[in-house]
Amino acid sequence: MEVKLVKKVLSVNDTMAQQNRQFFLEKKVLVLNMMSSPGAGKTAILEKTIKRLLPEIKTAVIVGDICTTNDADRLIKTGVPVVQICTDQFGGDCHLAAHVVRNAASDLNLDHVQLLIVENVGNLVCPAEFDIGEDVRIVVLSVTEGEDKPLKYPLMFRVCDAALLNKTDLLPYLDFDKETVLKNIRQIHPDMPVFELSAKTEEGFSDWIEWLKNEVEKKRYE
Ligand code: MG
Ligand code: ZN
Repeated sequence: MEVKLVKKVLSVNDTMAQQNRQFFLEKKVLVLNMMSSPGAGKTAILEKTIKRLLPEIKTAVIVGDICTTNDADRLIKTGVPVVQICTDQFGGDCHLAAHVVRNAASDLNLDHVQLLIVENVGNLVCPAEFDIGEDVRIVVLSVTEGEDKPLKYPLMFRVCDAALLNKTDLLPYLDFDKETVLKNIRQIHPDMPVFELSAKTEEGFSDWIEWLKNEVEKKRYE
C-alpha cells in the first residue's frame, strides 16, 4: 500500500514538473535546482555566484527551507528577486515539490530573467526524487562531510549534472581525502563535472561561473 502511494505522489509530481518545464521554456529561463545536505554552503555559494553573474545574467531565486527566512534575507541583499518557501506550511516537507515551485515562480516576474535558481531544502535524499521542472541539477558537497557521501546517497549524485566541492579553504585543517571523494563521485557518475571551490575565498569560482553561463546561453537558443 505504502509503495503504491509513494508512486502515485511521484507521478502526480512528474506531471506537474512537465508543466513547469513547458512554462519555463516559454519564458526562456534556465532553471537550476541546487541540492545538498544542510550546511554544505548553498546560500554562501549563491551569494558569490549571483554577484559574479550580475549585471550580465538576470537572475532570480526561490529558496526552500522547512522554517525561517534566513537564507532569503541573505540573498535579497544581492539585489535580485527572491521568494522564500517555508515548507512547514505544507506539512514541513523535506524537499520542494513541483507545484510548490510553480506557486513560488508565479510570485516572480520571469519575463526578463535568464536564470532561476532554486535552493532546495537541505537534504541529500528525497530532493533527488522530486522533479521540479528544472533544466540543470547541482549537488553541493562540502569537504567537512566525509568522502563517502556519494556512495551513501548515490541517487543524488546520479541525477545531478554537476557537483560543487565546497569549503576547499578548510582542506589543510581536515583529514578529508579529496582524491577519494573524487573517485567516489566518478564511480557513481563517471563524466559529471566537479568544481572544487571555496565560497569563503572564492577560489575556484571562475570555472563554475563559466560553466553556468554556458548553460544559460544554451537555454537562450533552445
Ligand atoms: Mg541555505
Ligand atoms: Zn522530502
